[in-house]
Amino acid sequence: MTTQFDYDLFVIGGGSGGVRAARIAASEHGAKVAMAEEYRMGGTCVIRGCVPKKLMVFAAAHGAAMDEGALYGWQVEKGRFDWPTFRTRLHAELNRLESIYTRNAEGAGVTIYPMRATLRDPHTVALADGRSVTAKHILIATGGTPFIPEPFRDLGGWTSNDIFLMDRMPANLLVLGGGFIACEMASLLQGLGVQVTQMYRGAQILRGFDQDVQDHVAAALVQQGIHLEVNTDLTSLEKLENGQFRATDTQGRTRQFEAVLFATGRVPNTAGLGLEQAGVTLDAQGAVVVDAWSQTNVPSIFAVGDVTGRIQLTPVAIREGHAFADTVFGGQSVRVDHSDIASAVFTRPEAGTVGLTEAEARAQGPVEIYMASFRPMQAAFVDAETKALFKLVVCADTRRVLGCHIVAPGAGELIQIAAVAVKMGATKEDFDRTVAVHPTMSEELVLLRKPVR
Ligand code: NDP
Repeated sequence: MTTQFDYDLFVIGGGSGGVRAARIAASEHGAKVAMAEEYRMGGTCVIRGCVPKKLMVFAAAHGAAMDEGALYGWQVEKGRFDWPTFRTRLHAELNRLESIYTRNAEGAGVTIYPMRATLRDPHTVALADGRSVTAKHILIATGGTPFIPEPFRDLGGWTSNDIFLMDRMPANLLVLGGGFIACEMASLLQGLGVQVTQMYRGAQILRGFDQDVQDHVAAALVQQGIHLEVNTDLTSLEKLENGQFRATDTQGRTRQFEAVLFATGRVPNTAGLGLEQAGVTLDAQGAVVVDAWSQTNVPSIFAVGDVTGRIQLTPVAIREGHAFADTVFGGQSVRVDHSDIASAVFTRPEAGTVGLTEAEARAQGPVEIYMASFRPMQAAFVDAETKALFKLVVCADTRRVLGCHIVAPGAGELIQIAAVAVKMGATKEDFDRTVAVHPTMSEELVLLRKPVR
């Protein structure tokens, strides 16, 4: 393409968004592309996020299946979960996936620099080995990093990054936070045999989710055996000589825990990247400010994924990376539609959600709420209390289904399908015209006859 620069595109960050952008720019649009990754190819999702988390969710599910299996008539001798055995297999799998990421990028013609890269100016990247390279376009895809509140940093508390690397499982653990990571980690670690206490400063976990989802997940976590403490925050934390933590909270309690996990949010990974030096505008949280085409205020510099502080989800970063490559190197003008993006929280049971919450929809106009909450057949059989929730938020005027919220085993899988209908603008009557699949839990979605409010 150009001879003026070393590369047409230099991508900083080898995670989901960066790799997709690099591959599409190189293989589909013929760009000369390089990428720098300072840790491991694959980024947060593959190395220390979605993938290892989901494998731990599967591991925990086997424990629960053994308990339930006994009630279904199986003669089960359940032992203890052996973390080292699982961890060895986990890391073998992550190594395999990492090499696939590397191979795919290199196969597309992307040059990988396995080191830190920072910006020197709008077209120059400084590499950690002292070299510098130039590029016509630079893409910032450095993701995010866990945030620990100031007074508790440097005390040896864990973040989600540490969970996948721990030497042994603690007998008990304090989880701070009420978001995606806090709830998922609390649920899966409890499922693997850790006694979990989850402390959240707000009135109910999963802030921003539909209130019925919040309440159902909270009840499920408690039924799982987690000590869930809302309206409670940590006031002091001390690491003791025996390696334990002494934690004092706003309820005036002081307790000891073997480990503490801070799941108190993530911040954009922009510190020390040289962005300010290159003239790139950051917001108050340190996120790179971009327009609908992921372009910063410096025309040659773009950013995708968690570093932009938009929606922090892998598939969103991938879409943004792809749209960037098609726009800048493919001669198209592709904007990512950030509306009605489904997501799932992998607790036990899972929560899946797409579209508006009831509260958000009510703020826009009159709505009808259709909802079923019941014990699924497989839970009732083993006398488990856990309830499933199927909820539709419907616009009273247009009849469009504005939101769909599910708490149930496999809700992550179910919401993907429901999201197609919501994205297509399906009405409540479209759902009603669909004949049920029986016997399933999700047949409730097409059998919700009368609004509950
Ligand atoms: P979230 O923003 O979801 O949750 C952060 C939690 O930490 C909130 O409960 C927040 O409380 C609490 N918190 C923040 N600051 C403090 C503080 N100073 N003291 C005490 N509590 C605090 O972030 P996560 O880190 O859980 O996840 C980050 C993002 O990653 C998610 O938003 C999601 O987009 C993505 N993710 C997606 C997953 C999935 O798709 N399954 C899984 C994991 C992550 P409050 O609500 O009061 O602000």
